[in-house]
Amino acid sequence: GGHLLEVRDLHVEFRTQEGVAKVIRGVSYHLDAGETLAVLGESGSGKSVTAQAIMGILDTPPAHIRSGQILYQGRDLLTQSEEQRRQVRGKEIAMIFQDALSALNPVFPVGWQIGETLRTREGMSRADARRRAIELMDLVKIPAAERRIGDYPHQFSGGMRQRVMIAMALALNPKVLIADEPTTALDVTVQAQIMDLLADLRQELGMAMILITHDLGVVAGVADRIAVMYAGRIVEHADVQSLYRAPAHPYTKGLLESIPRLDVKGQKLATIKGLPPNLMRIPSGCPFHPRCPYVQQVCLDVVPNSLVLGDGRTSECHFAQEVLDDSAR
Ligand code: SF4
Ligand code: MG
Repeated sequence: GGHLLEVRDLHVEFRTQEGVAKVIRGVSYHLDAGETLAVLGESGSGKSVTAQAIMGILDTPPAHIRSGQILYQGRDLLTQSEEQRRQVRGKEIAMIFQDALSALNPVFPVGWQIGETLRTREGMSRADARRRAIELMDLVKIPAAERRIGDYPHQFSGGMRQRVMIAMALALNPKVLIADEPTTALDVTVQAQIMDLLADLRQELGMAMILITHDLGVVAGVADRIAVMYAGRIVEHADVQSLYRAPAHPYTKGLLESIPRLDVKGQKLATIKGLPPNLMRIPSGCPFHPRCPYVQQVCLDVVPNSLVLGDGRTSECHFAQEVLDDSAR
């Protein structure tokens, strides 16, 4: 124990008419106070579903948590009552989403929305909630907060709306902020500004963060560790520097090789061939084998264990050490 947040051997299924999709198949990760974990993966890898399970906002049905634990300060959230979970949601662990526009209510001024949880949950007066909303808008660096507090969501740019959503998430001083693709809908310049803001806030407020993204390019300056997800498993887990220097899983290696590099002219970017698997028909052995340039017969026959490579790095690949040596060359 001792971690602020710990997901242990989580299994989640989606039960549909076509069959059962095993979307999370034994995911474990932890988060300590003040640190940032990036959870990286393609869409459908299970990265958002894990976060929704933490927040207690998985749609049921069809989502069904088969087994596992989600420990927050040592207590298993999955065995708590809805009332207990509501105490944790927002106040201890808050979440922001990709699409600020649909998360915000178009008919209320942003200041009113930022102050809403303060009024309803903390019993704050309207005047105090308004003052705090201005502070929060300042904190997320929305210019002229006092003047803009009465503006409506559509009067803000995409980047500014994302800042409003971050301000809402911070209203109750959570210890953990989960950011699910917080910059995906924004253009590249604004993406960088929001990532900078998140990095600053984390410093300033000492909060821990789970940053969910499909984009390995955005996490370098922000995250301490990265967990790479594929087909409902964490296939590689390492600190950011080690992973960038030399990935130890062919999937991570493929992701890294497909990031455009500013310092290389006329480069031909590699892409990972094929598509992520259908989660109702996960390939035998290693689920990455149909796409893997390192594949051998054993990969089709045997599910790889998680190999520990030192420095707390793990890779779920039969040839992790070879891939690591190959990457480090
Ligand atoms: Fe590739 Fe085999 Fe490693 Fe899977 S176990 S990632 S198929 S080399
Ligand atoms: Mg998602």
